[in-house]
Amino acid sequence: MAGAAAIGVDIGGTKVAAAVVNPTGAVLARARTATPHRTTAPAVVEQAIVDVVTQLRDEVGGQGIDVGAVGVGAAGFVSEDGEVIRFSPHLSWRDEPLRAELARRLGLPVVVDNDANAALWAESRFGAARGADDVVMVNLGTGLGGGVLRRGQLERGRFGMAGEFGHMCVVPDGLRCECGNRGCWEQYASGNALVREARALVEAGGGGSALVAFCAGTPAALTGPCVTQAARDGDPASVGLLQEVGTWLGRGLANVAAALDPGLFVIGGGVGDAGDLLLDPAREALARHLPGRGFRPMPQVVGARLGNDAGLIGAADLARRGRA
Ligand SMILES: [Zn+2]
Repeated sequence: MAGAAAIGVDIGGTKVAAAVVNPTGAVLARARTATPHRTTAPAVVEQAIVDVVTQLRDEVGGQGIDVGAVGVGAAGFVSEDGEVIRFSPHLSWRDEPLRAELARRLGLPVVVDNDANAALWAESRFGAARGADDVVMVNLGTGLGGGVLRRGQLERGRFGMAGEFGHMCVVPDGLRCECGNRGCWEQYASGNALVREARALVEAGGGGSALVAFCAGTPAALTGPCVTQAARDGDPASVGLLQEVGTWLGRGLANVAAALDPGLFVIGGGVGDAGDLLLDPAREALARHLPGRGFRPMPQVVGARLGNDAGLIGAADLARRGRA
């Protein structure tokens, strides 16, 4: 099993993506399937997973490549033992026994983990966190998610829900969050936060920003990648927006460092594509807010390397090992 290829499946809010991955983390073949809507019955989503896995298995089987296991990284709360999806904000899963159901239908060993855990595992094995044992990954996508690697092992917590940093309070009585609380970190450091501020800027007249031209004066047309592109092209207002999000990122990282003391932070997700435009302000804010600063080593802050493939590469590697 250890030497065989495995299939990694990444189930997010907008797609099911899958790939055949070899033991060195290289993607050999890919498939993806239509968006399962959040009201779609669990059985339909499971069928979609079975279909992409079967398709890939047939495809590489013709080339003599044997698939030994299947790993699933899912956007949701996965129970500590990997058996059950407790809840997923983007899918209709409530206490869904996904692992056993897929194993039965596929006739292969299956492991299930949280998608951020899978991405962190991939970065630690093949990407930006290679060789590091105490790592925290923070993904700035729509919201803010994360994972914890402790002495080289994924730290899932007692109930499988460790690393949900996005809902730590960073601003008492701050902006309202979907979770029901106020002032959550992801209201200030996430793709949604970046887009919200960019739209507000354009609505306020734009201050001469290139973003006004980018969205033809229609704020709702603005996306995170627009802001990153405008910042790369030198638009000072867009650089400033990324600086704000980066500064909030760094302030929150200081809180995480206070709790977990990692040696390395890996920053992924769509907003992470902005690279040092985001990471430099984050490093500065972390240095300013780190408890005991000046008397302790600074954790490093680096960008993720595996991009959108991290989740499926990590899920495949976890499957090959029977979940690390
Ligand atoms: Zn929240």
